[in-house]
Amino acid sequence: ADALGIDWTTDWIRRTAQVVHDHRVELVTLDREIGDGDHGENLDRGFTAVIAKLDSLPADAVPGDALKLVATTLISTVGGASGPLLGTAYLKGAGVVGKDEQLDGAALVAFLTAARDGVVLRGKAEPGDKTMIDAWTPAVDAAVAAQAEGRTPAEILAAAADAAEKGAEATEPLVARKGRASYLGERAIGHRDPGAQSSSLILRAAADAAAG
Ligand code: ADP
Ligand code: MG
Ligand code: MG
Repeated sequence: ADALGIDWTTDWIRRTAQVVHDHRVELVTLDREIGDGDHGENLDRGFTAVIAKLDSLPADAVPGDALKLVATTLISTVGGASGPLLGTAYLKGAGVVGKDEQLDGAALVAFLTAARDGVVLRGKAEPGDKTMIDAWTPAVDAAVAAQAEGRTPAEILAAAADAAEKGAEATEPLVARKGRASYLGERAIGHRDPGAQSSSLILRAAADAAAG
């Protein structure tokens, strides 16, 4: 009864585009501190392109179709490292949900796990490297735990979003070992990773869409 379908998926995508747009200056500022200052603009460009294509989905589209659209659009329109990384997350996540019309808790856990694994496959970051993985990995762990406790899909996504927020915050004291921030050495200490922050916003949008 609580399973999430195409309406949740497109609502998540629309909320993501909105939140990325609203937070683009914050994300640019974070990226200016330890990168090249384009992260907010990169994601805003990517998700604006996604929204332009969303209405062209067929009437019988399933969640996996919308997620694949996000993947291919991010990969083709986002110039920065985050485009292929997040694009691979959506692509691998779309792959595991396949043609399912409704995503229950187990499907959401499988989706989040595959998405995180996709980022790792593409970028080879480990937890603690000060990347978006530091938001995704605690999110997956929290989703697994919530699902094991029999929580609803909305509760699973809320747990994932809470954990991602804490994970993003926890990147602040870290030295970066992947991406542009790794060139800074100890100077990256004290700054939050922009990709971890944007991933926590994306996962909060997923939870908000499920909460209705
Ligand atoms: P660019 O660094 O090319 O300008 P963005 O600014 O859009 O790209 O994205 C930067 C973010 O990408 C970083 O904050 C980090 O979270 C993420 N990132 C970079 N390299 C990796 C990697 N190898 N694995 C996981 N995430 C990474
Ligand atoms: Mg950048
Ligand atoms: Mg760049």
